[in-house]
Amino acid sequence: MIRAYKFLLRPTARQDQALSEMLRDHCSLYNGALQERRDAYRHPSKTAVRYGQQSAQLKDIRAFDPERQGRWSFSSQQATLRRLDKAFQAFFRRVKAGEKPGYPRFRGANWFDTVEFPKDGDGCRWDSIPHNPVTRVRLQGVGHVRVHQHRAVKGRVKTVSVKREGRQWYVVLACDEVAAEPLPTTGAVTGLDMGVTHFLTTSEGAHVENPRHGKRNADALAEAQRELKAFGRRKREGRTAKHRRAVEKVAKLHRKVRRKRLDHAHKTALTLVRDYDRIAHERLSIANMVRAPNPKPDPETPGAFLPNGAASKAGLNRSILDAGWGVFLGILAQKAESAARVLIPVDPRNTSRTCPQCGHVDVQNRAGEKFQCTTCDHRDHADRVGAWNVALRAGLVLPDVA
Ligand SMILES: [Zn+2]
Repeated sequence: MIRAYKFLLRPTARQDQALSEMLRDHCSLYNGALQERRDAYRHPSKTAVRYGQQSAQLKDIRAFDPERQGRWSFSSQQATLRRLDKAFQAFFRRVKAGEKPGYPRFRGANWFDTVEFPKDGDGCRWDSIPHNPVTRVRLQGVGHVRVHQHRAVKGRVKTVSVKREGRQWYVVLACDEVAAEPLPTTGAVTGLDMGVTHFLTTSEGAHVENPRHGKRNADALAEAQRELKAFGRRKREGRTAKHRRAVEKVAKLHRKVRRKRLDHAHKTALTLVRDYDRIAHERLSIANMVRAPNPKPDPETPGAFLPNGAASKAGLNRSILDAGWGVFLGILAQKAESAARVLIPVDPRNTSRTCPQCGHVDVQNRAGEKFQCTTCDHRDHADRVGAWNVALRAGLVLPDVA
């Protein structure tokens, strides 16, 4: 089993400086390699430069510029070149598929935030001073950096990445051979309905609310994004201190929302895997994640549609919610695997319109939060009906519909 960990770093002032330089130099390596590929591509012969060729030049690049390239890990530089290679592979794949993708772009210092070390012990060392009361990670060219390790690391550390978020630095570990820790069986099963009003509802009818303060953060984020957009409208005056502050404000709020969402997802998933042996959930597809609310037909003018708040609904709040489910299901899958629980994804179509009692499918069955079958008059909370149908579709046996 694979697991990822992310810890805050507490570098000294000197290490902080070195980390910035490490990022800067990897960024310029990335951009230099991109420039080479660009030039080759623009040449009439349309030569494609490959990863192997660029990697073969690393030795000379390091020897030529020992101050800025020679001091960092050879492997992390290879990882950076591989990242560029991936961007190009994706680009060519899309060109081949007849799409018109944008050519891979140069990364400004603000858009290049990660240095990867493909193997622990090669240019980096997790827990570099064993038995020291404070965990440290050694990074070539930076030193032994203090780690705020808030939880135990299980399994074997495979890769180590260093990431900048705003003014903070983080270390991200990918571990494999993480042993499963099965939980005792409970004999209980459930289905989940993922909604907008409630984050999710179980087939027993228990609601889990959305992450708190999500709305307030979303509003603040919308406001900050409006401010940022105003810069774009004015002529190329970008890059001023004010502009940078606006960018940072948006990024900071994004991080805050993301942190809250993660926290909430972890707590919710933990409760579910403790309580249930098997959990059915809606399969989340990309199509689902970008769906807009259904248009409302206007009863006065056939063929016309009333505004349904699609613009606002389909906007920020909505996208935060959708992304939230994706994150949640990922975390749920991880915890389920570790606890030896079973997750069953099902086709989500019509789960909110089907009567769990008689099977009648009708849009009219549902009105807001109320479900009332137009055939057998079965009534329930609409989200609970959704969750119930998800469980039924997964073949789970539930107690009788109350
Ligand atoms: Zn019915």
